Amino acid sequence: MQAHLIPYAEQRRRRCDCCDRTLILAARLLLLDGRALLGDLELCGSCAGAFEALLDLEAALVQDRQEEG
Ligand SMILES: [Zn+2]
Repeated sequence: MQAHLIPYAEQRRRRCDCCDRTLILAARLLLLDGRALLGDLELCGSCAGAFEALLDLEAALVQDRQEEG
């Protein structure tokens, strides 16, 4: 499964799918399995930042494993 974080170009005030607060949304998180879209989440700034950090961490871990292997 892959996750893509897509920043919103315009500012939209809606409920964040992660923390349930109504805030200006910062990004949309897409969950993909190959080419199939499994789901998507609309995220506020702090949740998008947290997911971004997680995705960076995961990418770094995958890279580490590839270098070891
Ligand atoms: Zn949130």
